[in-house]
Amino acid sequence: MEFRLIDRIRERTAQGREDVRLGIGDDAALVAPPAGQEVAIAIDTMVEGVHFPQGIAPADIGWKSLAVNLSDLAAMGATPSWALLALTLPRQPVEQVQSFIDGYAEGFAQLAQSYRLALIGGDTTRGMLTVSVAVHGFVPPGQALTRAGARAGDVVLVTGTLGDAAAGLRLLQAGARVAEGDGRAAYLIERLHRPTPRVKAGLALRGRATACIDVSDGLLADLGHVCEASALGAEIDASLLPRSSMLLGAFDETMTRDLALSGGDDYELCFTVPPSLVAEVQGDLARLGCGATRIGRMVEGTGVRVRDEQGQWLETTHRGWDHFA
Ligand code: ADP
Ligand code: MG
Repeated sequence: MEFRLIDRIRERTAQGREDVRLGIGDDAALVAPPAGQEVAIAIDTMVEGVHFPQGIAPADIGWKSLAVNLSDLAAMGATPSWALLALTLPRQPVEQVQSFIDGYAEGFAQLAQSYRLALIGGDTTRGMLTVSVAVHGFVPPGQALTRAGARAGDVVLVTGTLGDAAAGLRLLQAGARVAEGDGRAAYLIERLHRPTPRVKAGLALRGRATACIDVSDGLLADLGHVCEASALGAEIDASLLPRSSMLLGAFDETMTRDLALSGGDDYELCFTVPPSLVAEVQGDLARLGCGATRIGRMVEGTGVRVRDEQGQWLETTHRGWDHFA
């Protein structure tokens, strides 16, 4: 049975790539990285009941489990190439397992195809529903974006909008069933289940961003990582936080601000660039469709400080993050 399952996955995720010499089916995959490139590697695990609620569509799990990994590659400025998939599946009737696999593979493949990413192997075991995806990507030597490297005076920007996914989670937790015609809730929940990894934005930032991270735990926490790695502080303006009209329509102003500051799961890129490059970078990311908004700047010191709409410093210290964890 295990083999049939693996065949189902292989058929549904088939992706021809020259550099895959041996894919699913042997004891290990064999790949040929392009000469002279560095390989960026990341892995992320999602456990049912922890990282996604019970009852979420298998296709959404497939999409998101790959998206969060592609987001890590995006934050490094790497071009995705290959993935491995470790699946832990509960003991269930075979039809149920098959329908999960089919849905999962469909969601995974939708995203994989748009990057010509090949699934080259994995592992399948029994236990609590857990999906672990590892990805590989290429980056020219020395050009990877990292969390270190920001300089005092650099401008802090973020792609897309913040807080949507956390808002979607709140709506789900409050028992919002996506009523027909409730486009707002549907949009926010879709942002939670089907995040868009900013891969092209990451590539466009190569050679220009001085530091970059993807926003998975919330802006305060993740920009905090950039501060630590770059041995600097950051000052941001709450009034500048990019928020979708759907978010603004669903919650009051203070709530949208807190969700944008502390809500996780957005998978936008937060990055720093020297002031002289801001306009050019914003133009390029606008053409890529996600846009980029300047939200503050890097300063000497430590930690992230947030100014409210009146110019007063907000009490933050990741309080919001705990609140939404
Ligand atoms: P082994 O016992 O040698 O580790 P497996 O029976 O676990 O081999 O796997 C057989 C082949 O199927 C391997 O190529 C492996 O990479 C692949 N594979 C197993 N599980 C998965 C999965 N969930 N997704 C993709 N490939 C898988
Ligand atoms: Mg083996």
